[in-house]
Amino acid sequence: MNKILTYPNKILRKKAEKIETVDEILEKDVKNLVEGLKLAENGAGLAAPQIGISRSFFGLKDENKEVRVILNPMINKTWGEKVYPKMIDDKEKQEDFLEGCLSFPGFWGTVKRWLKIEVEWQELIDKKLVSKSETLEGFRAIVWQHESDHLEGILFVDHVKKDGGKFYKNIKGEMVKWSVNDVLKKGK
Ligand code: ZN
Repeated sequence: MNKILTYPNKILRKKAEKIETVDEILEKDVKNLVEGLKLAENGAGLAAPQIGISRSFFGLKDENKEVRVILNPMINKTWGEKVYPKMIDDKEKQEDFLEGCLSFPGFWGTVKRWLKIEVEWQELIDKKLVSKSETLEGFRAIVWQHESDHLEGILFVDHVKKDGGKFYKNIKGEMVKWSVNDVLKKGK
């Protein structure tokens, strides 16, 4: 099994290669990603570059911990403007949705995302690439954008920096305001 790479590992900045053919290497790579994501406690998604494979695919984990592998993803249509997503807390108050990343353990930030997107991708079924499409909303749309970014070498902290989003480090369960530039600096 491959371990999850953290920033500033250089492979996280590389554009991933499109998958054209199904072979044993691809099947092994996909299996590695599924295992990695199943073991990742807090991850809803994991992109291939995060386990050292610079190829265009990522995994998505649902509530039942089932992993679906998405190959050659594309966003074909978006609705409205990118916004800072909100969520409702247990006191029914609106609060910021914080995005995190397995390659930035302990860091969280607000990132502008589309809340509705139409996507297209391929799945590996019986050694064949099968095309699929779907319209995604809310959390599923956000995770898709985060994982697609990884395949372009774009990281959530880049958006936090560019849009001036909020950024925190979780220190023993407490969200402490943190400088995103300090974290990004390590990659320079
Ligand atoms: Zn990530």
